[in-house]
Order: sequence, then structure tokens, then C-alpha cells
Amino acid sequence: QSKHLVVFTGAGISTSSGIPDFRGPKGVWTLQRAGKGVPDASLPFHRAAPTLTHMALVELERAGLLKFVISQNVDSLHLRSGFPREKLAELHGNSFKEVCPCCKTEYLRDFEIETIGLKDTPRRCADKNCGARLKDTVLDWE
Ligand SMILES: [Zn+2]
Repeated sequence: QSKHLVVFTGAGISTSSGIPDFRGPKGVWTLQRAGKGVPDASLPFHRAAPTLTHMALVELERAGLLKFVISQNVDSLHLRSGFPREKLAELHGNSFKEVCPCCKTEYLRDFEIETIGLKDTPRRCADKNCGARLKDTVLDWE
């Protein structure tokens, strides 16, 4: 009966695409605590496809039921699923996105950005009047 359904997503909705989570039985932190190192992703980040959960959220939005998604995920799968950018907040950033610190233009790439921690990337803003060095958008917990 809610008038403003909002969904908050985390790593669990991407595990079926082959991206490891953090706290699950085979999660990054679970295996590290057990001295087993970091789990391998079953496929590279850039080849992961949106899951049924991502697509269900797209359908709920298209039906007018879901108003907004807040995500902790940096895997870009919400955007790849077709979920509208203006109805998505990626709290920890997006591994495929770099931004211009001057004119605020966002660049969504089909490859992972080389840096994390809001650092300079190798590319510059494509706007001829700007040309500033771009920055990644992913938080660095270190
Ligand atoms: Zn710019």
C-alpha cells in the first residue's frame, strides 16, 4: 500500500551473475577471515550480466510501482539492466563511471576504470571548453 516504494540493494543481488559478495558463505570477507584469500569472480566484471532481480526491479519501475533504487553495488548492473539513471543512487560509486570534476559530465564506459578512491584517470573531459582530467567514482575503504 506504499505510495513510494524504494529498494536498497547490495552485493547479494549480483552473486548469481558470478560476482562474489562480502558476507555470504563464499564471500570476500568470509573467505579472508578463514585465511582462504579472495574468491575469484567466475567471470570478469565487464562481462557480468544483470540478474533476474535487476530485471524485476526494471519491470517494477516501468509499472510505476518502484520510485527509486539506492545501491551499494559498484558493478553497474542496475544501469546495464536499463534502470533509469535519474532513479538510481549508487552510494559507493560505479566501477565503469568516471566524472569530470569541473563540468560534472559523467562518462559511463564499457570497461572498468583503472583507479578507485576518486583519483585521476588517464582520460580527459571530451568537452572542448573543459578538457579537465577525469576522476573515478568508487570509494576506497582503505
Ligand atoms: Zn568537463
